[in-house]
Amino acid sequence: VEPLDVEAIRAEYPILDQSVDGTPLVYLDSAATAQTPDPVVDAMSDYYRETNANVHRGIHHLSQQASAAYEEAHDRVAEFVGASGGRKELVFTKNTTESENLIAHAWGLRELGPGDEVVLTQMEHHASLVTWQQVAMRTGADVKYIEVTEDGRLDMDHARECITDDTAMLSAVHVSNTLGTVNPVNELVDLAHEHDALTFIDGAQAVPTRPVDVEAIDADFYAFSGHKMAGPTGIGCLYGKEALLAELDPYLYGGGMIRKVTYDDSTWGEVPWKFEPGTPPIAEAVGLHAAVDYLEEIGMERVQAHEEHLAEAAYDALSDIDGLTIYGPEPGPDRAGLVSFTLENVHAHDLASICNDHAVAIRAGDHCTQPLHDTLGVAATARASFYVYNTVDEIEPLVEAIEDAQSLFA
Ligand code: PMP
Repeated sequence: VEPLDVEAIRAEYPILDQSVDGTPLVYLDSAATAQTPDPVVDAMSDYYRETNANVHRGIHHLSQQASAAYEEAHDRVAEFVGASGGRKELVFTKNTTESENLIAHAWGLRELGPGDEVVLTQMEHHASLVTWQQVAMRTGADVKYIEVTEDGRLDMDHARECITDDTAMLSAVHVSNTLGTVNPVNELVDLAHEHDALTFIDGAQAVPTRPVDVEAIDADFYAFSGHKMAGPTGIGCLYGKEALLAELDPYLYGGGMIRKVTYDDSTWGEVPWKFEPGTPPIAEAVGLHAAVDYLEEIGMERVQAHEEHLAEAAYDALSDIDGLTIYGPEPGPDRAGLVSFTLENVHAHDLASICNDHAVAIRAGDHCTQPLHDTLGVAATARASFYVYNTVDEIEPLVEAIEDAQSLFA
């Protein structure tokens, strides 16, 4: 694939063109939130300047335009992830976390009970781990975790042991936000289906970074967030197979999601509206539509290749530093563009703080994977993550900052 023209790309991200105390900003925190390019900001700003109104098919001109834009955004995002049912298979939520909660509550509270098992992986984000854990506690279901190997991959032998006829739901992260591992989700979904279990895939780190086809994966449910894929905050997505979403009851209630309401009872509208009560994220949907257009124009194969290239360069550069430990698989097709690490004698928070002194933005902490950090035997890691606008040259300031931290704490 043809490499990205990163200079041209950066021109659409004015936020990157700034200094922190006189040093040029190096933004290596895109796995937390990616930056938003001009075409996306412009689409939202145009929406507010020209089209803003509440949706749900109001009678007046602006409401009709806003409704059409909001509805179309569902179809466009569905198409982007290979969901042929369009809006019938694509619900807008607040974020990946809400998408997880929606299914865990709407499906899990109804379907799970004693004797049922929910199978997760040890590398789940709290968005999935805490949600299924709590819904399992309320329903009497058990939770099992597929173990992570020494080299940061899923132990697929253990997966085959965990997934049995008692499995009701397999919920697995597609790309780990801590280890960078790209999990074999097709294989996991097939295993679950062989045992008649449903599957939920957390694609928060996958959809932004590689081509994703939910139908090729055959996932029953698949979730992701706008703010990690060049889109705005405040909007997330839930893909679900049409028949499954159609037969579920709503998770949240209110206006805009009903068919008929009396003082005694209510009935629900069609998917996706039945899962989108209240005023939805309309401008954000317009922004996400623009983000999907933007990413598709670049080409997701090229985005993936760029990420892999940067991850490999960072991995190699950091590997040369004494006392530095990198977590997750070696660079390759099953490692995404993020690198988590610890440095001997330096707490991850101090490391991030010294990086900040060098205007290098990285994240430190448990990255919402506390149990995984317990398994790794560390309280916190530092994480550098990359996106379309990062260059290989930006790894050098990171290395310098780490070496500075090392000498300060020596
Ligand atoms: N899952 C993964 C793998 C993530 O990286 C994140 C974001 N850190 C989430 C879920 C949660 O996403 P959000 O905060 O947008 O709900």
